Amino acid sequence: AGVVPGATGGADLIIENVSKRFATFTAVDDLSLTIPSGSFFALLGPSGCGKSTTLRIVAGLEQPSEGTLRIGTEDVTDLPSHRRPVNTVFQSYALFPHMTVLDNVAFGLKQRKVADAVARAKEALELVELAHLANRKPAQLSGGQQQRVALARAVVNRPQVLLLDEPLGALDMKLRRQMQVELKQIQTELGLTFVHVTHDQEEAMTMADVVAVMNKGRIEQMGAPRELYELPKTAFVANFLGKSNLMRGKVVGRDGEYLLVEAAGGVQRLRADRAVADSGEVVLGVRPEKMRIFTAGEESVPEGHNRLDGTIVDASFTGVSTEYLIDVPGVGIVGTFTQNMGQVTGEAGDSAVMCWDPDFTFGLAGDDDV
Ligand code: ATP
Repeated sequence: AGVVPGATGGADLIIENVSKRFATFTAVDDLSLTIPSGSFFALLGPSGCGKSTTLRIVAGLEQPSEGTLRIGTEDVTDLPSHRRPVNTVFQSYALFPHMTVLDNVAFGLKQRKVADAVARAKEALELVELAHLANRKPAQLSGGQQQRVALARAVVNRPQVLLLDEPLGALDMKLRRQMQVELKQIQTELGLTFVHVTHDQEEAMTMADVVAVMNKGRIEQMGAPRELYELPKTAFVANFLGKSNLMRGKVVGRDGEYLLVEAAGGVQRLRADRAVADSGEVVLGVRPEKMRIFTAGEESVPEGHNRLDGTIVDASFTGVSTEYLIDVPGVGIVGTFTQNMGQVTGEAGDSAVMCWDPDFTFGLAGDDDV
């Protein structure tokens, strides 16, 4: 794959106190964030949370009701869309059906009478590994290939920031995974800032350096994928990024670096530096894969580990593992699983014991999403 010559590299994208209201409805609510130059940034959230509106504001397709937008040092808030160093790839590729692939990619440059339009379009097609299909029409391409043409067309005029709005949404799962890897490679190769909007947490986690989780027009939490997964700060983030077991509790003391929290019929440990508050009501969380499960009476819970006792309500064999749902008094249904290494832990109706290393416990501010 070639590199688009003269690619300008990335520029920081700075969103300052941006709000967008549609009549009385606030779609984006006082959003401030800095997207570092050259990063692969994902804006992740459920349908309607305001991610596309945010992207459209950055693209210049929508005017913010309030706030400032900068790219590098330049204030672009009032710049029309076509004057911004930004390009967008949409889920609908919007290719011209009557033009060849090459002409589709060269079109914008030709409009602007750029001298080496065709040569640059060819290089962009090489980047997405489609040079051999340059003379086809879009209808003669697969969905993934059309998506790559759209990508080539978006990078050919050397934007500093590339916006991607659910660009893989129309592809089947297998192609989607493949394109995720390719997109990431292209971003690394070009060194551009990519801002990727998606509601697919796995897609955001596998591709992005930084993920911002958006909810009701606001950023709930932003960070590296692992950090968000292991240390979510709200129940919304914990639940949106994967399965989690949450339990309400009350801080009753402290033992060294751990807070002692009365929850789920026992005293659980939570590292104080992972707690949102060090007294009063807290919510504890743990990812299902961090827990071990035993048949009651055969448990070996290491000293200092957290423990839950309950009754298995469902055990489902999934191939690589067996997933257990356990009813824990005072908590509700807790999920965990075992690797299928031959051990059988129990079936519905059996009593079970679960435990986990307290260092895997995260603490949340008590809220209504629990
Ligand atoms: P999705 O994943 O479904 O596209 P999203 O997170 O991208 O969702 P937005 O498209 O940004 O969400 O929309 C945010 C909210 O703003 C939605 O409730 C939507 O109905 C509303 N909205 C968006 N555009 C307009 C508009 N032009 N007029 C009125 N309301 C709008």
